[in-house]
Amino acid sequence: MVQSFEIAVFEGDGIGPEITAPTIRILEALAKQQQDYGLAFSKAPAGAAHYAQTGESLPVASMETARNADAILLAAMGLPSVRYQDGTEISPQLDLRIELDLFAGVRPVRVVQGQPTPLKLSGGQSIDFVLIRESTEGLFFSMGKGAVSKDEARETLLITRKTSEKLFRFAFDYAQQRKALGTGKGRVTCVDKANVFRAFAFFREIFDGVAKEYSHLIADHAYVDATALWMVEKPWLFDVLVTENMFGDILSDLGAGIMGGLGLAPSADIGLNHAVFQPCHGSAPDIAGKGVANPFAMILSAAMMLDWLGTKHNIETMVSDGAKLRDAVYQVVADGSVLTRDLGGTSGTEAAAEAVLEQITARA
Ligand code: NAD
Repeated sequence: MVQSFEIAVFEGDGIGPEITAPTIRILEALAKQQQDYGLAFSKAPAGAAHYAQTGESLPVASMETARNADAILLAAMGLPSVRYQDGTEISPQLDLRIELDLFAGVRPVRVVQGQPTPLKLSGGQSIDFVLIRESTEGLFFSMGKGAVSKDEARETLLITRKTSEKLFRFAFDYAQQRKALGTGKGRVTCVDKANVFRAFAFFREIFDGVAKEYSHLIADHAYVDATALWMVEKPWLFDVLVTENMFGDILSDLGAGIMGGLGLAPSADIGLNHAVFQPCHGSAPDIAGKGVANPFAMILSAAMMLDWLGTKHNIETMVSDGAKLRDAVYQVVADGSVLTRDLGGTSGTEAAAEAVLEQITARA
């Protein structure tokens, strides 16, 4: 029986539509080879350009499309030149996180053979860990609520037991899954600043409580400053890192740096009922419309979507298609002959995506 999944697609702004079109083509090609799942795509208009045209950044109809979908694929939203009256940027991707309670931001950090990285890896050494960033509270809870007077400014961080417990269970389940797939060691590290702040001692205490439910996995802790150092010095030791929103925001860009830039950095924002899959990069207005954007982070995000849907609905072919898609991208990177400019090549978006499609077809 074919199980069909509805995917809401936010093409967004800037390079968004350029990287979305080939990603959908690849997903369609993969699904076409399978008997047990199908994908249907519904476009959801939103973003800065949409706001400039209509006065709405995230229309109710688009929110409904997202809410009713099985998964959400998002390219990038926002343009520095388009702002609300208070001067802040249009960022419906942040609204989606709050509206759909997407508390777990999943940021894989992976460096394979042949991938450009500023780190010096010895022969055969690779990096494969996942950063899980709480995405609905922490310091970001204060967004738009900060108090600023002439002489001082205050922002308040919020950590709740309810969200932290959900987050930590998600992290342990994720580590368990990675261990079962042979990609992880079964270790979860709570990254905090519990030596200084009571809120982080509270965060750590909740982590330790949840860890008791997963006694077959390893649970440990690290301070955020030391974690930043170790991400550069010995990142191959990590498996799953789980942290507060602001710490995760910063460490995930460090992760992107390790991966040689944003062009290979996928992400997922996951809740109990919904999930958004999107590259870590923004709308790159400086290169929009030129056909030179790197589509790999978007394609790797689509691979994460297949993993998530396949695992959730117990469809093995979907999970293996996710792995196939990820492997195809890394094979193209390792081969090095069809890379976009940000990865040191000269190819355009379409050629890079086509090379991934050829890899998939060759593996069929
Ligand atoms: P950006 O990630 O868009 O661009 C930073 C640099 O990386 C630019 O030089 C850009 O050309 C390059 N780059 C980014 N993606 C690339 C790709 N796929 N291929 C090749 N080069 C790529 O960050 P920014 O310039 O700070 O932000 C631009 C807009 O995007 C802003 O309006 C910002 O608010 C928005 N933004 C959106 C998201 C999101 O939707 N999740 C995330 C970050 C920024």
